[in-house]
Amino acid sequence: MNGKGLLVVISGPAGAGKGTVVKELVRDDNIRVSVSATTRAPRQGEENGVHYHFLTREQFERMIEEDGFLEYAQYVGNFYGSPKKQAEDWMKQGKDVILEIEVQGCKKIKEKFPECVSIFIMPPSMEILENRLRGRGTETEEVIAKRMKRAAEEIGLSEDYDHIVINDTVDECVAGIRDILEKERSARQ
Ligand code: 5GP
Repeated sequence: MNGKGLLVVISGPAGAGKGTVVKELVRDDNIRVSVSATTRAPRQGEENGVHYHFLTREQFERMIEEDGFLEYAQYVGNFYGSPKKQAEDWMKQGKDVILEIEVQGCKKIKEKFPECVSIFIMPPSMEILENRLRGRGTETEEVIAKRMKRAAEEIGLSEDYDHIVINDTVDECVAGIRDILEKERSARQ
């Protein structure tokens, strides 16, 4: 990718608070967040085209065939992918683009775009993570158990990231990431 904006990968277990942190980060007009495509069903309150592009399995497969993704991966039984065109356009305009994706996706992005900045958001503890997942009230016990297992696996891979930021409080976490991006930008000038 030839754009001037940074390609920023943010990962962390479901419930680590990535969504809230990213929402704060994109208040900066130079930062955009990529809207992923997924085959998972929308949760209550999620809007098509805002939280995700909700696709059928067939539509998702067609996008793979058309080379429409920067990366895609399977996560707890569903497909998730980062659409290519929007991210490329923003980066060409000089915007930093955040991909909020899981660890397999990050690995693929690093192979394709070694210049990307990868950040892992760590929950303060597994107990807090489980409480946050449960607090959402949108997931069954079975899904919570699967997501906790996956969270432990993901935390084990956090060392592959350029930066690890603990999400103790949202404000500190956001400040930590802004600091990282600032340094990355000036290192590239
Ligand atoms: P959720 O179902 O909770 O919205 O997301 C599940 C996981 O999929 C999260 O870790 C989220 O970051 C990840 N994810 C969301 N979009 C993408 C994507 O486009 N690609 C990949 N690889 N992971 C994604």
